[in-house]
Amino acid sequence: MDTGDVIVIGGGAVGCAAAYFLAKDGARVTLLEKDAVASAASGYAMGLLSPLSGAGIPGPLEELSLQGFYAHRDLAAELKEATGVDYHARPQDSLNLAFSEEDARGLEVIADYCQKVDGVSSRWLDGSDVMALEPRISPSVWKGLLIEGAWLLDADLYTRALAEAARRLGADVRQARVTGLKRSGSNLSVQTSDGSLEAGSVVLALGPWAGDASSWLGVPVPISPLKGQILRMDIPGPPPACSLNYASNYAGAKADGLVWIGTTEERVGFDDRPTEEARAAILRSVAAFFPPVAEGTVARQTACLRPVAPDGLPIIGGVAGWDGVYLATGAGRKGIVLSPSMGRAAADLVLEGRSRLPVDAFSPARFQPAA
Ligand SMILES: Cc1cc2nc3c(=O)[nH]c(=O)nc-3n(C[C@H](O)[C@H](O)[C@H](O)COP(=O)(O)OP(=O)(O)OC[C@H]3O[C@@H](n4cnc5c(N)ncnc54)[C@H](O)[C@@H]3O)c2cc1C
Repeated sequence: MDTGDVIVIGGGAVGCAAAYFLAKDGARVTLLEKDAVASAASGYAMGLLSPLSGAGIPGPLEELSLQGFYAHRDLAAELKEATGVDYHARPQDSLNLAFSEEDARGLEVIADYCQKVDGVSSRWLDGSDVMALEPRISPSVWKGLLIEGAWLLDADLYTRALAEAARRLGADVRQARVTGLKRSGSNLSVQTSDGSLEAGSVVLALGPWAGDASSWLGVPVPISPLKGQILRMDIPGPPPACSLNYASNYAGAKADGLVWIGTTEERVGFDDRPTEEARAAILRSVAAFFPPVAEGTVARQTACLRPVAPDGLPIIGGVAGWDGVYLATGAGRKGIVLSPSMGRAAADLVLEGRSRLPVDAFSPARFQPAA
């Protein structure tokens, strides 16, 4: 099918994955990014690939999340071969801590769900087994759910590897800010800071800025930014034996030799500056379950914005009244694990008019006012 030039807007993990799969399938692709590839959340995410929890899991997001996880295990070798970039994708066990019966009950759903995931298993540890695995955990720990076969990667290098692989397949990756879309008859064009580009199809992967497309398209794209911060820590002694999770916070050893700890969920608009308040709050919450961080030094603090829809689910699909224009955003806390699925779905929609992955539940039409 000749889809003409496909323009992907947004050089985050989702846009770069879409550009990669499109280019791999032979489309002529231009990727437009207003700043630099991976300059927003995709360049600063923790990089945990957990298909096991979050909004819509278990539930409508389950399959997309699982397929994203499986695709990552193949992509790591594929992208390394294509680009030479090693983005440190590797299995890293993950220990979910429970300090009370109620905490443990909250983890049961994850324990059950693990049975569905190929190559992933879980087992309960009592408090003494938890301390044997990682003796520096707060001794008041009651139980732990150890997930074996979880994966971790460097999200910044991963996103850049996708863009570079797309470029090597012929995609034109450019810096330009998109300011609008125009349809005249059967012609579609993209307005940019650098002039106008003709397009056969367009994928809007604008992350938290997807709401800007509402005025371009005249349809609601109700995405808002949810700020999250991470501290990259130098801690005394060895890094934690596995990734540690408690409630919505975590600590994990990364390939840069530092221990990354997070995070926050802040509704503060598009302000993405690191703050002292978040630094104190993250240190306090993580030190409560992994005390060595209180003795460490902060090597770097980062802040960035997750794209979130009102129902917490992604928005993937064609835009009503705009043939050939597709949205792919709203991955919230899971955009790295979901990016191969969202990119694959966007590429399928452009090239085949339908997605091989189940994305109907994520159609932008769910936010259209009833006619
Ligand atoms: C602290 C934190 C930790 C996280 N940890 C994880 C994790 O461990 N695992 C996980 O799966 N997810 C994680 N996430 C979530 C993940 O980072 C996001 O869901 C994901 O990066 C979103 O990707 P995206 O491509 O949709 O958006 P983005 O990465 O925001 O990319 C969108 C791009 O579009 C560009 N753009 C916007 N408007 C325009 C325009 N008009 N013209 C041209 N370009 C434009 C932007 O500059 C940006 O580069 C984390 C998020 C945070 C904040």
